[in-house]
Amino acid sequence: MELKENDAKLFTPGPLTTSLTVKKAMLHDLGSRDTVFLNIVAYIREKLLHLADASADDYTAVLLQGSGSYAVEATFSTSVPQQDAKVLIIENGAYGQRMVKICRTLNIPHDVLSFGETERVQADQVAEKLKSNRYTHVAIIHCETSSGILNPIDEIGQLVHDHGAEKGSTVYIVDSMSAFGAVPVSLRNGHITYIISSANKCIEGVPGFSFVISKKQHLLKCQGQARSLVLDLYDQYVYMEQSKQFRFTPPTHTILAFKQALDELDEEGGVQGRGKRYQENNKRIRELMRSFGFVELIKPEYQTYIITSYYYPPAPFNFESFYQKLSKKDQLIYPGKTTVTDCFRIGNIGRLFVKDMEILAESIKDVCQEMGINLPLKNDNNQ
Ligand SMILES: *Cc1c(COP(=O)(O)O)cnc(C)c1O
Repeated sequence: MELKENDAKLFTPGPLTTSLTVKKAMLHDLGSRDTVFLNIVAYIREKLLHLADASADDYTAVLLQGSGSYAVEATFSTSVPQQDAKVLIIENGAYGQRMVKICRTLNIPHDVLSFGETERVQADQVAEKLKSNRYTHVAIIHCETSSGILNPIDEIGQLVHDHGAEKGSTVYIVDSMSAFGAVPVSLRNGHITYIISSANKCIEGVPGFSFVISKKQHLLKCQGQARSLVLDLYDQYVYMEQSKQFRFTPPTHTILAFKQALDELDEEGGVQGRGKRYQENNKRIRELMRSFGFVELIKPEYQTYIITSYYYPPAPFNFESFYQKLSKKDQLIYPGKTTVTDCFRIGNIGRLFVKDMEILAESIKDVCQEMGINLPLKNDNNQ
């Protein structure tokens, strides 16, 4: 199989389009005990704390081989005691439902508070639910990438903090996979115990590892709790502290790419700067799609600037053919990930700029024409 000279643009929620310099950073073979490598790992761990507004006295960043889901599973596996624990999972989409599956698989007692896949998490209902039971852990998704909804993690964090006999005793787990690095977070203000993300989302690295920024005071209590050998955040942490190394083969090339990606995040003005570019990308594609008559799935006030879901227009629209024709033009979009209705998604994270969003929109226009779809669409019958 031959690769093309220029890759297609990825309007997807990860892996995503990365800069040439991030890709080039991988052109080295480092040993896992190499001092240069170990120093880079230490640098990354420190830098991640900074991005999360977390002090090194209270928090630690643990890196873990594997995609984001591995870190989510490791967090539940490690942080929930084998006895006397009950987790509340707040969900409004596929990634929240994945947390439910993880707890089911690990035999972790849990309740689920569900909101619709097109609804934002509502604090008043969470407050009610918290009154009904004594939960030891509460988990939520920051940006529900399946739809594009941004959940109010700080507001829920305050409720979790106030829950239970002793303030701050309830563990709060936030999956910020597709938001971390571009949407500001503060572990302190959000009263977050564990926040999870991965290399290949808004920090614009390549896939290969994930990370969990963890409250040390809690993580240190988790020895021997994990239901897995490899997905043991506590062991990974202790080993990394003692030896600066990963427990098992580290993704050395991915780590090098990530270091470069962090430098580029800095150059862009950090989380604020990255967020600004994504907001501009998102605004532009939504304007153009709206002008074509495409209808968004999520209410604008719930919508984040990471990814946008669109209803399928009526026939002759057909997603498979729409997708194939766009990919022939080197524009890769994503199918929907909701069960409520047929939709597709356009992500705007990664090394993408307003110009790329305009080229995508132009391609969508051409593809619609090829498919015999007249633009603008008539809005009264496309939902
Ligand atoms: C990407 C993502 C994940 C992790 O998915 P992987 O396929 O394991 O990388 C988890 N949660 C959210 C919200 C995500 O966007």
